[in-house]
Amino acid sequence: MNYLVEQTIERLKEARVRITPQRQAILEYLILHDLHPTADEVYQELATQFPNMSVATVYNNLRLLTKMGFVKEMKFGDSSSRFDFASTEHYHAICSNCGKVEDIYYPGLDAVEDVAADLTGFKVESHRLEVYGLCPECQV
Ligand code: ZN
Ligand code: MN
Repeated sequence: MNYLVEQTIERLKEARVRITPQRQAILEYLILHDLHPTADEVYQELATQFPNMSVATVYNNLRLLTKMGFVKEMKFGDSSSRFDFASTEHYHAICSNCGKVEDIYYPGLDAVEDVAADLTGFKVESHRLEVYGLCPECQV
């Protein structure tokens, strides 16, 4: 089993979360595929493996994993949320044509938070950066 999967399952057990086969498959899918899927896409992928599983089950599991901090829910405008396994901090580039989400690993822009704090007096807790444009496939 993938190390991250194993480690995350251990932490879920410590938190006394029951590891159902569906829950494990959803988690594994998110960890092994860096596709930022919607709940519906995860459901489509696992439907043959778990014919009795509903979209609601997938969604509830994703919400649970998000609430526990293992997964990040990304909302882009009014389209369905996309889910990302929350390993290392990173930013995202989003294709405005096909909706593909690509990871950007770049040092945290912490200076932005300092500037924002200075300018607004806010006690800044987080920030979010998204780059929009056309992915390589959509440029042709
Ligand atoms: Zn694209
Ligand atoms: Mn990502």
